[in-house]
Amino acid sequence: QLSMRLAKAASYVPKKARLADIGSDHAYLPCALTLNQQIEFAIAGEVVIGPFQTAKDQVERLNLTNKIDVRLGNGLDVLTIEDEITAITICGMGGSLIASILENGVQKNQLSGKERLILQPNIGEYTLRNWLMHHSYQIIAEELIEEDQKKYEIIVAEKSEKKQNYSNQDLKYGVFLKNTPSAIFIEKWKSELKKSRTILASLKKSSTDQSEKIQQVEREIKEIEELIQ
Ligand code: SAM
Repeated sequence: QLSMRLAKAASYVPKKARLADIGSDHAYLPCALTLNQQIEFAIAGEVVIGPFQTAKDQVERLNLTNKIDVRLGNGLDVLTIEDEITAITICGMGGSLIASILENGVQKNQLSGKERLILQPNIGEYTLRNWLMHHSYQIIAEELIEEDQKKYEIIVAEKSEKKQNYSNQDLKYGVFLKNTPSAIFIEKWKSELKKSRTILASLKKSSTDQSEKIQQVEREIKEIEELIQ
């Protein structure tokens, strides 16, 4: 049984996919998809020996070694063209780490551009969307879920012929998330609003000149207020 966060990410993996789950840790995601006969083949990539061994043990215990290949290596280095990967999941890391894994993959020609990317950043969503935009990935879906009092975004993207042109607000709040604001979305930005107001109050009390920072936080507050009103 997958956590809600991983189940949501898994729901965007196309049927019969050849999946690469990067930073797989316990390999729960590829194991669940394989057991449900949703995917044809998977690679579980891990850069740290401990989680790599955990993933290997899990795959062996479930008798899935003919369907899931557990590989030790950094990011997309574990992939080869012959693997014919059609979907990549990278979940449970910071957005800038996910972006740097993808950037390395581009530098080393490890991405064919045919893979659907299913990404679940814990933080740094702006940085990740910005990377996707600059590499002509179109965001095709987004989810915001809450589990154990934590909120998680899932971003699904595919390479596009056209250059993508997202606004700063799209990158910050989410292209789809901001256009159809859910109760969780409003809650998330209400709590960010509260944080910004606290920051503003302390900036205003500062003995040094903070006028530039104050203006910036005030702009941010106004933007969020308009978004969730
Ligand atoms: N994907 C799982 C999930 O969402 O539940 C595990 C998330 S866990 C917090 C992050 C995992 O990514 C760790 O096991 C870590 O070793 C691995 N990791 C971090 N950087 C990596 C990289 N550059 N390449 C492969 N794995 C990496």
